[in-house]
Amino acid sequence: MKRIALVTGGMGGLGEAICMKLAALGYKVITTYSPGNSKASQWLADMERQGYNFQAYPCDVADYDAAQACVTQITKELGPIDVLVNNAGITRDTTFKKMDKTDWDAVIRTNLDSVFNMTKPVCDAMTERGWGRIINISSVNGQKGAFGQTNYSAAKAGMHGFTKALALEVARKGVTVNTISPGYIGTKMVMAIPAEVLDSKIIPQIPMGRLGKPEEVAGLVAYLASDEAAFVTGANIAINGGQHMQ
Ligand code: NDP
Repeated sequence: MKRIALVTGGMGGLGEAICMKLAALGYKVITTYSPGNSKASQWLADMERQGYNFQAYPCDVADYDAAQACVTQITKELGPIDVLVNNAGITRDTTFKKMDKTDWDAVIRTNLDSVFNMTKPVCDAMTERGWGRIINISSVNGQKGAFGQTNYSAAKAGMHGFTKALALEVARKGVTVNTISPGYIGTKMVMAIPAEVLDSKIIPQIPMGRLGKPEEVAGLVAYLASDEAAFVTGANIAINGGQHMQ
């Protein structure tokens, strides 16, 4: 029987690569997308043309009730979730001086509350079945902080605190909980940064001298989802071209 993987934000740059990798490894892959995403059916059709048969559910991951309803529906229609990848995220960058409560709340709710919202309805079922993988996509900027990202750095650092605490609670029940902290990966979130900032400020901070590729992060997700990774839990794995070595 195929294992079921749920990837939030699977239609984004990293999420798409994660969905493709897990599908290639034989998982049944389900993704969520924002209810307002008008390109969802086009994305599904494009994927189908490339041979991928993904299931997609609209769900605002920042909304607790919507997340519970979405997971209930998925479980009813397709079965229990074996692998949860909390990948959906946003940025609202600005200096702390200019940051308003709306920027703060949006980023905390979408990047951090979402991890609680989505993990809550899957975790007990995983521990009852004695197997599960929860993989949280954080960021190098949650490890080191970043100028103009007090909201994002706080949310991403918070994800790892969550990871470590939950990993302790479920360690004896066959469920692992880990964080991946990517550096700058060439997706649209990063390509939205002005080219001159990328070239003059960001690439020079990366010892490898290049952006990461979504497939490189997807490979790490696949490892953490596998049976081979059964002894890895509560970890925060950096994948950043050597940008932040701590
Ligand atoms: P994208 O902007 O390409 O994708 C983000 C995804 O999150 C989209 O699919 C979007 O769905 C989804 N999403 C956003 N808000 C919501 C919401 N409220 N409810 C449901 N889905 C939502 O970003 P990336 O692929 O680059 O980033 C993926 C993750 O990786 C994020 O958590 C990001 O912080 C993290 N990351 C990325 C790095 C990078 O360099 N790219 C570096 C480090 C971390 P929709 O389009 O339907 O709104």
